Amino acid sequence: MPEGPEIWRTADSLTNALKDRPIEDLYFAFDELKDYEAKLKGQSVKNVEARGKALLTFFSNNKVMYSHNQLYGKWMISDSGKQPDTNRSLRVAIHNGKKSAYLYSASDIEMLDREEVDEHSYIQKLGPDVLHPETTYEDVLKQFQSDEFKNRKLTTLLLDQGFVSGIGNYLRSEIMFYAKVNPHKKLREYTDKQQEELARAAYKLTTRSYETGGITNDPKIVKALKRENASYKDYRHFVYKRTDDRCHKCGSIIEEEKTGGRKIYFCPNCQLED
Ligand SMILES: [Zn+2]
Repeated sequence: MPEGPEIWRTADSLTNALKDRPIEDLYFAFDELKDYEAKLKGQSVKNVEARGKALLTFFSNNKVMYSHNQLYGKWMISDSGKQPDTNRSLRVAIHNGKKSAYLYSASDIEMLDREEVDEHSYIQKLGPDVLHPETTYEDVLKQFQSDEFKNRKLTTLLLDQGFVSGIGNYLRSEIMFYAKVNPHKKLREYTDKQQEELARAAYKLTTRSYETGGITNDPKIVKALKRENASYKDYRHFVYKRTDDRCHKCGSIIEEEKTGGRKIYFCPNCQLED
């Protein structure tokens, strides 16, 4: 499943394709949304933003489309009118004369008024999203220092969208590595300094992944590995899915472990010595 950085990049592509040009035509597959085909024609898309793993498409008439892709939904963009060649079922199409955006296979689509967005049942439960323009490092740090979460295991919290939204499985392992923490603890068992390191790592790596198109590894290490013709898979991450390979920082062997059905990856030398 895509994580915050990938979802924000989709939002940016949709904004770039749709922004500020009048909508010439629309299509909604679901009966309850059919009325919006007429209501939104002639309006424009102002921008598209991520909220956790959902997308919000803001229209010029104060309407907002909420869509969550779950495991199967997919947006595709094309030059106007050229429908992508796919067997997926089309759920939404927006055409502005220059570009077309198609949403396939998603079933979780709703139309909201702008004022209703923050009250939406999915959105109101979300923790701060690092990539949201209004989120600061302090907002993220507050979560790591909060009493509400202190008795929970770090590995569980980092996947909880109510804690910090947008973090998924690859960011989880990478954040714990970057903060150099032992992954087997509850939040309250980390020192103040480690909680700060974790917040900094969450902020830094989510932003880095967004800017680089998914790379969380240190830019200097990436550069050196590229010179040695390493593959994308080899230089992309510090530890994620690198079981039995050597740590880029210390040369120790990376280990994996299953927690709650999903794997974490860590360097025993960089992370377990405390
Ligand atoms: Zn290491």
